[in-house]
Formats: sequence, structure tokens, C-alpha cells
Amino acid sequence: MATIEFRNVTRHFPGTHRAAVEHLNLPIEDGEFVVLVGPSGCGKSTSLRMLSGLELVDSGEILIDGKDISRARPSERDVAMVFQNYALYPHMTVADNMGFHLRIAKRPKSEIRQKVEIAAEKLGLTPFLDRYPRNLSGGQRQRVAMGRAIVRTPKVYLFDEPLSNLDAKLRVQMRGEIKKLQGELGTTTVYVTHDQIEAMTMADRIAVMSEGKLEQYGTPTELYDRPVNTFVAGFIGSPGMNFIEGAIDADGGHFHNDAGLRLALDGTFTPGRKVTIGIRPEHLRLAEDGFGANVDLVEPTGAEEMIVFDIPGGQATASLRERNNLRKGQKVGLTAAPGHVHVFCGENGNRLE
Ligand code: ATP
Repeated sequence: MATIEFRNVTRHFPGTHRAAVEHLNLPIEDGEFVVLVGPSGCGKSTSLRMLSGLELVDSGEILIDGKDISRARPSERDVAMVFQNYALYPHMTVADNMGFHLRIAKRPKSEIRQKVEIAAEKLGLTPFLDRYPRNLSGGQRQRVAMGRAIVRTPKVYLFDEPLSNLDAKLRVQMRGEIKKLQGELGTTTVYVTHDQIEAMTMADRIAVMSEGKLEQYGTPTELYDRPVNTFVAGFIGSPGMNFIEGAIDADGGHFHNDAGLRLALDGTFTPGRKVTIGIRPEHLRLAEDGFGANVDLVEPTGAEEMIVFDIPGGQATASLRERNNLRKGQKVGLTAAPGHVHVFCGENGNRLE
């Protein structure tokens, strides 16, 4: 078990115009499951690789259990990494793949066998121990890669997009299994993904990154309910938050845009200030006294209906639980659920309040 801390960590690859990771500060508690998430190129893999020792740290420190390991060799860090492509040895059986690191560490054969059997049991791999990776399904291969990490009982597990080669259904199943296994083992885990749903469902805390910088670090609920800026607000949640640009009314308590949309806000803001408001699809409601909207597209998903509306000055998506039998072209009134209008600065996108 271990705590981890990134302290002002920067990695700038020679010849690139911006740092891959810039001044990253990230404390991770013992036993915590932290997910690094963000779009391609945001620096999440580089952060993980610096923690594992596969990548250099230019400045700053990475501490494991309070000790600076940023210049230590990978083998000295006691971390185990699970990769996207599994990195299994094709000529070795499942049992040999799982026991690989213990054999390298010259552990006794009986100990290796016992640890492999325990891990195989946990992962449902017992019937497959004598098979070769080519004779396994994608999900089974992924489990073998995890098995290889857990037999070592390291201080820290690192996962780099471990589910991206699996089909949608198996991904959902495996994310549940990984989360459950981590809970049982209690080992501090850092997990990289570009998939915000994976992040939301698995993490104790999520670090959202963009262009090498940490945008926000918090629990899934904190990020969802109080995103610190439009980037996090738009990245977390699916379908994404609706944004409408405009300004604060003279009374400070309403928003309006040039196309005539007007909406009550929950707080008081500087009159005339340029803002962007954000409303999640599930917080839009039909209301006769709301602002005017035209149905553009209806997508029933079974559990709910996704409706795209033309609204004054743009479009907005609503997810409605009840069946309203709306048709394209129909005119309705729309409003936002009280307490669910996010207000961001129109210039820098930071949350206001
Ligand atoms: P992805 O999801 O696509 O893997 P990521 O968020 O994990 O993206 P990184 O792989 O950490 O992003 O890359 C961050 C930035 O650093 C990118 O702009 C990338 O092009 C750059 N980069 C990564 N590795 C190197 C390298 N070895 N040399 C030069 N630039 C690199």
C-alpha cells in the first residue's frame, strides 16, 4: 500500500512546442483509485509513464510513500503496469505469463505456482492456465495481463487504457471487475483512459487533463456537479453539457442572449457581464412558460428520449425520461431545472460564483 504525489512535475519533449505535462500537482491517497482522463495528447500517458519510470521527469518530483522516486529505475519503484495491448508473451502459457516477474525475481517454484493459482482463481482464469494467449478471447487476455500485475503484490498498479481493445459490452463488464478487484486488494491504483464514462464509474477521484495541464481533480460527483470551467463541464457527461453564450441582465439574476432567450439564474452576477451558461441535457425540462424551442430531432433510447431542439441562438439537447411523443418541427417551451444552470466567464470559461 502506498501514497503517491506528483509535485510540480514537468516533462517537455525536445523539439515540441509545449510541455507534454506541465507543473502537475497530484496527491493520491493510500488505497485510492485515481483516473487520469482527457482527450488524446493531453499528457495522461506521459504522467503514468513518468510514475512507472518508462519516461523521464524534467523537473519536479514524484513521491511514493513520501520518497522521491522520480530518478529511480523502474525496477526499484515497486509498481506494476497493465497495458492496452496486454504485452503477453505469445510463446508462454497463461501460467508462465502470470508468473513471469516472479521467475525473473527468482522466487521459489512452489511460491510462484501458489501465487499464480490464487490470482487465477480471483480472475476466473483457473481453467485456462495451460493455454497460450492466442487461444484466449480479448477479455481473457486482459485478465491474464492483470493477473501478471497482481501476482507481484506491488505497492501501486498502473493501467494505461487497458480496456480499449475490447468490445463495448466486455468493456463494461471488465471495468466492473477491475474496480471490484482493486477494492478487494486495496492497492493504490492510477488508471489512464480517454473515456469519461470509464473515469466516472471507476474512480474515487478523477484528474481531468488538457494540453499538459491539470484542469480539475475531484470525486466524480464534484466534477459533475461543480465543474471548474467549460472544458471540464463539456468533457464530463454524455451527451455533453449544452452551452449558450450571452450576458447577465441588468437585474443580475437573469441570463439573456442576442436571439432573445432569457433564463433565471440561481445566484446574483455582475449586470452586463459576458457569460456562457451550461445546462446538462437531463436538466432541461418542458415548460409552457419557458423559452421557445423547436424540435429538430427525436432519438428514443428506450429508457429516455434524446431531443435536439433549435433554441434562440443555437441548439440544445435534452434527455427526457417521460415519453412526450414530440415530433420534428413541434414548438414547445423549455426551461432548466432550478439549481442546475452553471455560469461560466464568457472570456476565460472559468466557473463564476
Ligand atoms: P493518448 O490518449 O493519445 O495516448 P495522452 O493524453 O496519453 O494521449 P501523451 O501520450 O502523454 O498523451 O502525450 C502528450 C503529448 O506529448 C502529446 O502532444 C504527444 O504528441 C507528446 N509526446 C508523447 N511522447 C512523445 C515523445 N516520445 N516525443 C515527443 N513528443 C511526445
